[in-house]
Amino acid sequence: MYDYDLLVVGSANADLVIGVERRPGAGETVLGSDLAVHPGGKGANQAVAAARLGARTALLARVGDDAYGRLLLDSQRSAGVDTVGVLVGGAPTGVALITVDPSGDNSIVVSPGANGRLAPEDVSAAGCLFQGSRVVSAQLEIPLETVVEVVRNLAPESRFVLNPSPPRPLPQEVLAACDPLIVNEHEAKVILGSAAVGDSPEDWARILLAKGPRSVVVTLGAQGALVASAEGVSRVPSVKVSAVDTTGAGDAFTAALAFRLGAGESLAEAAAYAARVGAVTVTKEGAQASFPTAAEVAAQ
Ligand code: ATP
Repeated sequence: MYDYDLLVVGSANADLVIGVERRPGAGETVLGSDLAVHPGGKGANQAVAAARLGARTALLARVGDDAYGRLLLDSQRSAGVDTVGVLVGGAPTGVALITVDPSGDNSIVVSPGANGRLAPEDVSAAGCLFQGSRVVSAQLEIPLETVVEVVRNLAPESRFVLNPSPPRPLPQEVLAACDPLIVNEHEAKVILGSAAVGDSPEDWARILLAKGPRSVVVTLGAQGALVASAEGVSRVPSVKVSAVDTTGAGDAFTAALAFRLGAGESLAEAAAYAARVGAVTVTKEGAQASFPTAAEVAAQ
């Protein structure tokens, strides 16, 4: 029988990064730095972040039967993630082609590839993983109908955490299952659509909560976060650090929050821990390479 703290259902991408003096315009070719290839994708990132904190973690995802798929499987396994739920084949591994200029601005083209083929049937076929997981987390780099099927397959006692990134309007069935829905400002605004969003993150959280989730977390970068539930809205203290690279902070925050909720902490306690994890993450370069261990968070 499986026994996981966290099951992550989501994307796995190879991030192909080239530094350039200037990003090319239409019809133009520019020379860049050596190519760097990093494992990424929000699902893969969250699974690695959780495992590094000590969570027993499984990933349900799809990669291609190719070198990038093997790179992603290797990075999951070396972090300690159970890859029994990683399906192979059907399309090439998802890829993000990233050019970065000296000011740090980037241009990104994503080919979802195998992520777009993670189908509702793949979710229903993975019933054992769902039965054996305290918390299930998802993001939106896989088809929305697959996320709907995730919600339908939750075990009665397990908790669902959603980071709706990239954001889009969500069906009521998905919203109602979130405990919490974790959004940054941009995601909050897309999900609220033309609804009055109010002026403050507290307003967004209250309006989002009224749409059906059992709880809401709004992440605010260096300002920390806030949590909202039927018990009210409260700020999570920010942690002062010298930020080097904010890539992956949201994924690390979500993974840490999901893990600690499954361990029985309150939303406020779990979010305070997640804010510390997010803060350590931004002190290092990269995404997966910057995720801390529990000991590094304790030493922070
Ligand atoms: P991403 O860019 O990864 O999608 P996000 O917008 O979803 O990120 P953020 O709000 O940037 O998420 O970061 C998540 C959490 O990490 C924040 O709520 C905060 O607790 C912590 N964090 C992020 N940036 C900083 C920072 N500069 N200093 C301290 N903590 C930070």
